[in-house]
Amino acid sequence: MSADCIFCSIVDGDIPARTVHETDSVLAFLDANPLARGHTLVIPKAHAQHVGDLNDELASDLFAAVTELTPRVQSVVGADGANVGINDGEAAGQEVPHVHVHIIPRFEGDGGAPLHAVGGDRPDLSDDEVDAVAEAIAE
Ligand code: AMP
Repeated sequence: MSADCIFCSIVDGDIPARTVHETDSVLAFLDANPLARGHTLVIPKAHAQHVGDLNDELASDLFAAVTELTPRVQSVVGADGANVGINDGEAAGQEVPHVHVHIIPRFEGDGGAPLHAVGGDRPDLSDDEVDAVAEAIAE
């Protein structure tokens, strides 16, 4: 629990939310400013700011809720697909510093964009540079 965290306040019941799913460790509620009908946020109840702060159990619980809810949300709103994603860190657009997975229903011809659109200018990388990055991550 973090004193200034709006999502912790939702977990504690101090701020209202349209809850759609709850377990001992995970809460899901509708986004207050939806990008689409059914836009849902799935959060760990325990405060964690970044994806890398989640322990294995919490990460597993969170993703289990996401996999259960994504088709359910799509079905309820009659969506043709969904973007599922996390803004991890301010540079990536994270505004609420409590990990949350966005489930954004998508409809044919809705004018939206794929996740590929979130990146900045594409880097011009040599094969050697790509290999070095792969090796460093794999280490
Ligand atoms: P992000 O930019 O990934 O941090 O997204 C934060 C999301 O939280 C935005 O889509 C907001 O509309 C949503 N949000 C902020 N406050 C609330 C709230 N009290 N209840 C539901 N959703 C909220």
